[in-house]
Amino acid sequence: MSHSIQTSPSLALGASVLALLASCGTSGPKAPKSTPTSQVRLPQPQTPHWDYGAEHGPASWGELCPEFAACKSGHEQSPIDLTGVPELGAPALITNYVPAALQIVHHEHVADIVNNGHSVQVDYPESAELAVGDRRYKLLQFHFHSPSEHSVNGRSFPLEMHFVHKADDGQLAVIGVLFEEGPENEILVPLFDHLPTARGVRYHYDHVKVDVDALLPPNRIAYRYDGSLTTPPCSEGVAWFVLANTMSLSSRQIAEFRAVMFGNNRPTQPRHERSVVRDGVRER
Ligand SMILES: [Zn+2]
Repeated sequence: MSHSIQTSPSLALGASVLALLASCGTSGPKAPKSTPTSQVRLPQPQTPHWDYGAEHGPASWGELCPEFAACKSGHEQSPIDLTGVPELGAPALITNYVPAALQIVHHEHVADIVNNGHSVQVDYPESAELAVGDRRYKLLQFHFHSPSEHSVNGRSFPLEMHFVHKADDGQLAVIGVLFEEGPENEILVPLFDHLPTARGVRYHYDHVKVDVDALLPPNRIAYRYDGSLTTPPCSEGVAWFVLANTMSLSSRQIAEFRAVMFGNNRPTQPRHERSVVRDGVRER
């Protein structure tokens, strides 16, 4: 492990402000529960600034630079509202669909966590594999949106996780998991105990492990459709699998996440002529 370690005055200030907030009993973001093994300040991204606000938000992404044009002109954009999706077997919508089992092999791994200003993301340097028929994808990272980006019959959810996978030929496949308010999600506890408030710093915790597999519902029936990245450059050609079964997290956990980030959800996009199917995928 060769992470370089840097500290900056703004980080130190951030920590003391957090400590102050905690001691005042406010509902601000809590300080991480343990010290990172290492932390690295990431280089500034080369793309223009974008966010979820009025001026540089989703409605303007397509005009911020030529590379973001698909955000405006694309016809297979994500997220979408999953409405009126038939079970597999309704012949009208089964065009360009190849029946295939979706197998997910994820392993417990050390968290490498970063708040990039657009989401809180956990990177996976080691392989976890998604197999869709003959195609194999490696898990690159997962991240969170709150509230959810996809909706089901017009209904939004408090949190959505995206597990981003890439095949050897570069094609992306994203598994979306929708979370409802309910019992506490124990798998999220170690992650939410270390949500980074400082932006653009990658924190590594040797002792924080996440069982990715347990973050997905055991029954993996998925809504499948062809879509895009939900953030600039909104590139298309992304295979989407939004799981039909939800996971739960507590109201306290929702508040914990929202104290760090809220409103990082792109509105749903027109479906146009795309087919969406809901199929049964293999359970582990
Ligand atoms: Zn996402």
